[in-house]
Amino acid sequence: MATDLTTAPQSSPVLDEAVRRRTFAVISHPDAGKSTLTEAMALHAHVMEEAGVTHGKASRAASISDWGEVEKERGISVTSTALRFDYRDVVLNLVDTPGHSDFSEDTFRVLTAVDFAVMLIDAAKGMEAQTRKLFDACRRLGLPVVTVINKWDRPGLEALELFDEIQAATGRTPVAVNWPVGYAGRFTGLLEPGAATYVRHEVVDSGARVAREEAVDGAADRGLDPGIWLEAVEGAGVAAALNGTFEAEQFLAGEQTPVLFTAAAGNVGVRLLLDFLTQHAPAPEQRRDVSGASRPLGSDFSGYVFKVQAGMNPAHRDQIAFVRVNSGVFARGMELHHAQSGRPVSSKYAHHMVGRGRHTATASWPGDVVGFVNASGLHVGDTIHAGPSVTFPGMPRFDPERFRVAHNLDAAHHKRFAKGLSQLEEEGAIQVLRDANGSPGGPVLAAVGELQFDVVVDRMRREFGAEITLDAPLGYDRSLPLPASGVAQMASLPGVEVLYRPDGEAVALFHDRWRQARVQERFPDLFPPRT
Ligand code: GDP
Repeated sequence: MATDLTTAPQSSPVLDEAVRRRTFAVISHPDAGKSTLTEAMALHAHVMEEAGVTHGKASRAASISDWGEVEKERGISVTSTALRFDYRDVVLNLVDTPGHSDFSEDTFRVLTAVDFAVMLIDAAKGMEAQTRKLFDACRRLGLPVVTVINKWDRPGLEALELFDEIQAATGRTPVAVNWPVGYAGRFTGLLEPGAATYVRHEVVDSGARVAREEAVDGAADRGLDPGIWLEAVEGAGVAAALNGTFEAEQFLAGEQTPVLFTAAAGNVGVRLLLDFLTQHAPAPEQRRDVSGASRPLGSDFSGYVFKVQAGMNPAHRDQIAFVRVNSGVFARGMELHHAQSGRPVSSKYAHHMVGRGRHTATASWPGDVVGFVNASGLHVGDTIHAGPSVTFPGMPRFDPERFRVAHNLDAAHHKRFAKGLSQLEEEGAIQVLRDANGSPGGPVLAAVGELQFDVVVDRMRREFGAEITLDAPLGYDRSLPLPASGVAQMASLPGVEVLYRPDGEAVALFHDRWRQARVQERFPDLFPPRT
């Protein structure tokens, strides 16, 4: 029989590898259990002998010692790494997002590098401020979201109540992939809606090993209180009757969010989550370049920088550009170019990022993350490629909400001050704005959250030897990009100030959101609604 070449599935090493990839981020409000779940996933994937090596509060204190001072002092994660592990025949790339609510801009950038997100919710708290923000970011980026309700071993909200909250806050319909049998201290297992059996787990306190599980017939399980079983069957039935069941297409279109339950600290539900991700979560797909054309996965290597991190290891004084592979295969030593400048990029010192250690990359495929060490001149949003030039769209920018004038405290070192700020601006750690006269009194640093300023002051001192001080915040707490045609109009309005980015683009600052809303209403042509 003749093969129909138009419909025959294509096969190539690149496509075979791409199909095996799941590249995602776990997003949550701080303390929902992101680190714990990450450890538990890695444990299941046998990356580590014991959970707690890479993350976890106890080990975290020890392992952050070579990270930024601010991070050390505050014990919070302000940086992103990529963790790669094999699970069954799938490669999971877990791109870590900073957990602090001030870092939404940074987090947003990381989300551009993943194909879906796992939203982790604390069963006792439901949707929290940061969860909502992250969910909005996923919507803006068109990312499918898998929801995980964690800490089911603790007293919390009712499952159906949580479903209502998710629906109201996200607009996506939560559909149960599994349903808990019992809750809090009597959390016994997970039931697939409609099934007669459930996966019963043992309780593992320390989380140091995978929980033993077995499939048992719920109605015949003598160890299980029949009331608990009936309640679970009923709950799952109500959820299915109200919201329906999992439909792959609706999930990928962002209309549904599949929901799974876990007690990550005891490694419960983690295997079912991993199985679900390998079976149903999207593999990397073709990405569009600036011209709008889809770049086939099998074409020459291309990738883009979603994060630049300096000062990860003071002993090396290095800077790492994290690159998501969009097409082709990457191998060390290959000839690469930086699309924005046309200059060659050295691939000699490229690494996979695994936990916080580095492993030398031999080959990477679409969806993988590669760290380019000391590749100066690489900025967030830039494209790297082999073969003919291709450029992916730059990084979407967040509109800053905090503004402070920066002063150089050491006039003899003006160069360091200027260089440091321009480097941090290029990295996307902060935005640097100036007025039409070049801000002789000091540039305005613009951030999404206050903590970003602390990081910048600290990094200016440590990495650039520049002591800086910041004035009290300016009285603006909203901003929007402004087309050149609107500059004169905006500059004449009370309660609005116009400043400029280094690339000359204008930004309008507003005293507050009411002022912004009124101006937007009056000048819809200058500020078209954004999705
Ligand atoms: P992160 O800030 O989101 O990374 O949260 P962590 O993973 O550090 O977890 C915050 C706290 O919740 C820690 O004390 C964890 O031990 C605890 N925790 C995480 N998952 C669970 C769980 O499933 N059950 C219970 N009881 N505690 C959990």
